Amino acid sequence: MTTETSATSSSKPLDGRVAVITGASSGIGEASAEHLASLGAKVAVLARRADRLDELVARIGKNGGAAVAIAVDVTDAAAVQAAADRVEAELGAADLILNNAGVMLPAPVEELRADQWQRQIDLNISGLMHVIGAFTPQLVRAAGERGVADLINTSSSAAQNLYPTFAVYAGTKAFVSHLSKHLRAELGPKNVRVSAIEPGIVGTELQDHVTDAGASAWLEGSKESVDWLRSDDIAEIVGFIASRPLRVNLPQVFIMPTAQAS
Ligand code: NDP
Repeated sequence: MTTETSATSSSKPLDGRVAVITGASSGIGEASAEHLASLGAKVAVLARRADRLDELVARIGKNGGAAVAIAVDVTDAAAVQAAADRVEAELGAADLILNNAGVMLPAPVEELRADQWQRQIDLNISGLMHVIGAFTPQLVRAAGERGVADLINTSSSAAQNLYPTFAVYAGTKAFVSHLSKHLRAELGPKNVRVSAIEPGIVGTELQDHVTDAGASAWLEGSKESVDWLRSDDIAEIVGFIASRPLRVNLPQVFIMPTAQAS
């Protein structure tokens, strides 16, 4: 059935939608899962930490929402495909993907932290692609049946701005942003809206994984002059993107803390 917008026929704007959120055990993904569920979507929450996902599912259920937890490492293509099959069997074809799992490991390039380069590439690029590969057939099918589907990829302001020592992370996010533009050109005609969200600094666990002292000091120091974004700020934007009328696509959403200059 094709409708102008689900908001016209139900009390919640995402009623009837099936959302999949990767990186849902903390930060932006966790907040987005709760928010999308509050807007009426059934949500599948994916990440590696099963205990955190179970707590999230219980919280969503307590607030009247519907959620399933799927513990999965998105760098494992076969495991992501199995998760996609499970989503379709339990909830129906996914029509909203927040492709969000990521890691940020800045370090001066001369330190040759090839292990950290690889971790970022494996998760931020290959993991993101595994999710796209496993779920695109469902998105296209759902868009054909329901009139619309959303693929929202989490990029970063680092895809646009220059941050010394963040080169590899920024490179992975530039991949995400450019890929999203191309996928939009390909999938838009099939009623799949593709968006890249590009936040500046958001206070999450992302910063806790940083091992480079210089980058940690820069991040910590920025707190003195910048009121960092919060995960809920991004979650609300994700909900906004997905609840627009079907003719409206926001391909690229750049979101900065007001006082973060670049
Ligand atoms: P968090 O560290 O809080 O969240 C990262 C999420 O990714 C966690 O849920 C983590 O769960 C999951 N994850 C990590 N590795 C894997 C894996 N191999 N398989 C499945 N899930 C995995 O950080 P954020 O919420 O900030 O990050 C979310 C996204 O936002 C990232 O893509 C990040 O690059 C991007 N971003 C963040 C910004 C910020 O300042 N915070 C700014 C711009 C973009 P688990 O460990 O349980 O698997």
